[in-house]
Amino acid sequence: MPAKEYDVLIVGSGHSGGMAANILTKQGVNCLMLNAGPESDFEHNRVNKAVHELPYRGFGKPGRLPHVYQANEFNANQWVDETENPYTHDPANLYNWVRVRLVGGRSLFWARQSFRLSDFEFKAGDLEGTGQNWPISLADLHPYYSRVEEIFRVAGRKEGWPEFPDGNFVEPNYGPDSETIKHLSALGKERGMKFSKMRSSGGQNGLASSVNLLLPDAMATGKLEMVSNAIVREVTTDKKTGLANGAHFVDRHSRHERHVKARAVVLAAGTLESTRLLLNSGIANSSGVLGRYLHDQIYGISVVSSVAEARDGKRPSGLMGGSAFIPRFRNLKKDEKRDFIKGYCVIINSGGSAAPSLFAEYGEALQKKVDHYAGSCVSGSIFGERPARYENHVRINKNVSDAWGFRRCTSK
Ligand SMILES: Cc1cc2nc3c(=O)[nH]c(=O)nc-3n(C[C@H](O)[C@H](O)[C@H](O)COP(=O)(O)OP(=O)(O)OC[C@H]3O[C@@H](n4cnc5c(N)ncnc54)[C@H](O)[C@@H]3O)c2cc1C
Repeated sequence: MPAKEYDVLIVGSGHSGGMAANILTKQGVNCLMLNAGPESDFEHNRVNKAVHELPYRGFGKPGRLPHVYQANEFNANQWVDETENPYTHDPANLYNWVRVRLVGGRSLFWARQSFRLSDFEFKAGDLEGTGQNWPISLADLHPYYSRVEEIFRVAGRKEGWPEFPDGNFVEPNYGPDSETIKHLSALGKERGMKFSKMRSSGGQNGLASSVNLLLPDAMATGKLEMVSNAIVREVTTDKKTGLANGAHFVDRHSRHERHVKARAVVLAAGTLESTRLLLNSGIANSSGVLGRYLHDQIYGISVVSSVAEARDGKRPSGLMGGSAFIPRFRNLKKDEKRDFIKGYCVIINSGGSAAPSLFAEYGEALQKKVDHYAGSCVSGSIFGERPARYENHVRINKNVSDAWGFRRCTSK
């Protein structure tokens, strides 16, 4: 890497870093992108192995990924290894931090559900009578949502519901609803719920990542250089102006430390990792708010049921299949009587199978059970919002370092 000064240093190559690179390079800005992990080799890394070939029979090495509920031994190489990159949390307040350090970050593995926030979220302070409004509204974000939806080829059914704002959708390809979805929809409507379709990014060629949708255009301009396995430790500042002027980073393998100069720095290392970098750099925190008001999505319960007529592979045509999305329907009116704040959505899928972990059997008996229920299941999962409160925060844990000696976060 040449020892030159770049216009902009971008830390991270996921959706955020990829978008920054895409927009800036098209305007002629010289960018350098540093990414903590390697480039992913999909041809090589996607080879499936039989469970008996894996050292831990599919369960994975204990202690490596305790907080990643999506992880198993088949996909363990895609997540950040928590023995190398530990973090701590209050034992009474579990926080699952799911991280990917490959070039492309989480954009390689996200589920592609693509929704707009509504003013019921942005202006929740007014609606709920507690908490604060965001300083922006849906109208402010609308033009940006539209551009992103176009790039990511988001499909959905337009509904005109303010609590579930429509987007700039590509033509959806939905067939008619199956009988199970129609049945649930009728029951839900009686209870004040609205049923729509999932809104998803189609991407291109099976991938909706920064690696295939954002970075190629940036690279084509000749204005982007990328260094992988480069772990940023600290953003540096100009002593005279106080402005960011580059970063210290370390090579993941050789552990050599380097400094790169830039006129501006974009931190796109993920919400918490970017916060950690700022806290470790001792900058951008005159308000004392950095790391606070942490909020996130929460997963509620999931329910799986089986339709008797569809078991043993005998499902009648048109009975099963498809999905439905029930947007938030609780606490939408200011004067509504409420037992809790905020709301939740429900995702319904019809025609799936039951996970083997739902049964107590082993071996042949377990296989029989799985086959019996295959294709007959309807599942519903709830997703909610963890409100942004001052008390919800991350800070630096001075006693915990990563494998390269950089101080790590603790959450509460
Ligand atoms: C399994 C899964 C499913 C999801 N499904 C959905 C969904 O359906 N819909 C939705 O809206 N969202 C979903 N998300 C969330 C979504 O993927 C993320 O919000 C989004 O991708 C975050 O993008 P990002 O660029 O901010 O961060 P990331 O994608 O995490 O990128 C951060 C990048 O920074 C790099 N980095 C980190 N630390 C350093 C460092 N110190 N130095 C240098 N580089 C560094 C990493 O290598 C990484 O490439 C899902 C996430 C997961 C994990």
